[in-house]
Amino acid sequence: MPGGDGTGPDGQGAVAGRGRGRGQGRGLGGGFARGPDGECRCPNCGHREPHQLGVPCYDRKCPKCGSPMTRA
Ligand SMILES: [Zn+2]
Repeated sequence: MPGGDGTGPDGQGAVAGRGRGRGQGRGLGGGFARGPDGECRCPNCGHREPHQLGVPCYDRKCPKCGSPMTRA
Protein backbone atom coordinates (compact mmCIF):
# COMPACT_ATOMS: atom_id res chain seq x y z
CA MET A 1 0.00 0.00 0.00
CA PRO A 2 2.60 2.56 0.48
CA GLY A 3 3.13 4.51 -2.62
CA GLY A 4 1.63 2.60 -5.54
CA ASP A 5 0.85 5.76 -7.41
CA GLY A 6 1.82 7.76 -4.42
CA THR A 7 3.77 10.81 -5.09
CA GLY A 8 4.65 13.25 -2.40
CA PRO A 9 1.62 13.81 -0.19
CA ASP A 10 1.04 10.23 0.93
CA GLY A 11 4.62 9.59 1.70
CA GLN A 12 5.15 12.79 3.55
CA GLY A 13 2.02 12.32 5.59
CA ALA A 14 3.05 8.85 6.63
CA VAL A 15 6.53 9.87 7.56
CA ALA A 16 5.46 12.86 9.55
CA GLY A 17 2.80 10.84 11.31
CA ARG A 18 5.22 8.15 12.28
CA GLY A 19 7.86 10.53 13.41
CA ARG A 20 5.57 12.35 15.76
CA GLY A 21 3.64 9.27 16.77
CA ARG A 22 6.74 7.48 17.88
CA GLY A 23 7.31 10.17 20.36
CA GLN A 24 10.33 12.13 19.41
CA GLY A 25 8.69 14.68 21.60
CA ARG A 26 8.60 12.25 24.46
CA GLY A 27 12.18 11.31 23.90
CA LEU A 28 13.31 14.88 23.98
CA GLY A 29 11.10 15.60 26.94
CA GLY A 30 12.69 12.78 28.83
CA GLY A 31 16.11 14.04 27.97
CA PHE A 32 15.33 17.51 29.18
CA ALA A 33 13.22 16.40 32.07
CA ARG A 34 16.23 16.46 34.23
CA GLY A 35 16.95 20.09 33.88
CA PRO A 36 13.87 22.15 33.24
CA ASP A 37 14.45 23.90 36.48
CA GLY A 38 17.84 24.78 35.21
CA GLU A 39 21.40 24.86 36.19
CA CYS A 40 23.53 27.29 38.01
CA ARG A 41 26.72 28.28 36.40
CA CYS A 42 29.74 30.10 37.63
CA PRO A 43 30.46 33.06 35.40
CA ASN A 44 34.01 33.08 36.58
CA CYS A 45 35.23 29.54 35.98
CA GLY A 46 32.30 27.97 34.22
CA HIS A 47 31.53 25.39 36.90
CA ARG A 48 27.99 24.10 36.70
CA GLU A 49 25.68 22.63 39.23
CA PRO A 50 22.07 21.56 39.10
CA HIS A 51 19.79 24.24 40.37
CA GLN A 52 18.21 23.50 43.71
CA LEU A 53 14.66 24.44 44.36
CA GLY A 54 14.34 27.28 46.76
CA VAL A 55 17.96 28.24 46.41
CA PRO A 56 18.56 31.00 43.92
CA CYS A 57 21.67 30.50 41.88
CA TYR A 58 22.98 33.89 42.85
CA ASP A 59 22.68 32.82 46.45
CA ARG A 60 25.07 30.00 45.94
CA LYS A 61 28.77 30.22 45.63
CA CYS A 62 30.94 28.34 43.26
CA PRO A 63 32.70 25.56 45.15
CA LYS A 64 35.74 26.06 43.02
CA CYS A 65 36.33 29.76 43.05
CA GLY A 66 33.75 31.15 45.44
CA SER A 67 32.09 33.45 42.96
CA PRO A 68 28.34 33.87 43.13
CA MET A 69 26.75 31.68 40.54
CA THR A 70 24.27 32.68 37.90
CA ARG A 71 21.47 30.92 36.20
CA ALA A 72 22.62 28.96 33.21
ZN1 LIG B 1 33.79 29.25 39.82
